[in-house]
Amino acid sequence: MSGYHSPQVSVKVRLNTNESPIEPPAEFVRALAASVGDVKWNRYPDRAVRELRAAIGALHGVGPENVFVANGSNEALQSVLLAYSGARRTVATFEPTYQLHSHIARIAGATVVSGKRNPDFTLDVSEVRRVCTEYSPSVTFLCSPNNPTGMAEDPAVVKTAIECAPGVVVVDEAYAQFSPYTALDCVNESSRVAVSRTFSKTWSMAAARLGYLIAPKWMIGDLEIVTLPYHLDAMKQRAGLLALQHISHMETGVKTVVAERERLLAAMRSMPLTVWPSQANFILFRPTNVAGRTAWRALLDAGVLVRDCSSWDGLTDCLRVTVGTAAENDAFLTALRGALEARD
Ligand code: PMP
Repeated sequence: MSGYHSPQVSVKVRLNTNESPIEPPAEFVRALAASVGDVKWNRYPDRAVRELRAAIGALHGVGPENVFVANGSNEALQSVLLAYSGARRTVATFEPTYQLHSHIARIAGATVVSGKRNPDFTLDVSEVRRVCTEYSPSVTFLCSPNNPTGMAEDPAVVKTAIECAPGVVVVDEAYAQFSPYTALDCVNESSRVAVSRTFSKTWSMAAARLGYLIAPKWMIGDLEIVTLPYHLDAMKQRAGLLALQHISHMETGVKTVVAERERLLAAMRSMPLTVWPSQANFILFRPTNVAGRTAWRALLDAGVLVRDCSSWDGLTDCLRVTVGTAAENDAFLTALRGALEARD
């Protein structure tokens, strides 16, 4: 196996990992710095993460018993796979999608079965039904909006997965605040649904590594069995609590990013590209006159790093750009015009 990594290249405009281009409010940073002195550094942190779970629960109208917090939503997904997959079990994904779902499932020893999205990357209800009934997956992943293709899953697809999958259904909503749809309403005590969210994108806190799952109480109990003791450090618990005091900053940031996304989409549609619609903070595109890898290299030479998805299954020649600041997006558009003039 090889690890899952996006290159961390020192470059002027970094648009390859879907972080927020907006810094958190200065007030948040000041309050976090001040809270360093309040931590009892010689003691383990609150193992049950009570305060932060209650605050996240309040945000979504559920109790702390429905919230599992982890070091990034990736760790939350890993915990689900540790709890419910493993040897002789099957995990279902619908490709192309976020590669870490299948990557962690394989590390956990499970067999991965991959349903297929259509050429326009929509997912048919019949394909979801086929995979869930043919393979009886213990964990089924959906991703809404889907990374790297950009669109939210059709609610009918989510409904079908919930009806047909015999095991747990995870809806990865790392980018949900950028889209009008959420599967949070599908989580209840008699469901087997978990929705994952992250502080890495909309909350401008990728450096903190904080994510969570909203799920039925019994599932949270299972996840606590597979979690290492005191896995969430005291500063991170503080950071999450303080971030939740700045919801309007986060919401304004989402609006800014969405407006910039629409501006980028409009500009890119006038270029020799196939551009897929997006309800996230990134855009998938394919140059029509040069190879994807050639365009990626030319962009990098011009100081702009985007994600090269061209070798991924079903994404030949495709690149993915994260929506940045207005200045970064301008730099990207200029570099892209130049890159599309590059020849193989
Ligand atoms: N899910 C999806 C779909 C993502 O794109 C990402 C970030 N690349 C994550 C989860 C992980 O986010 P984090 O671990 O930073 O919360």
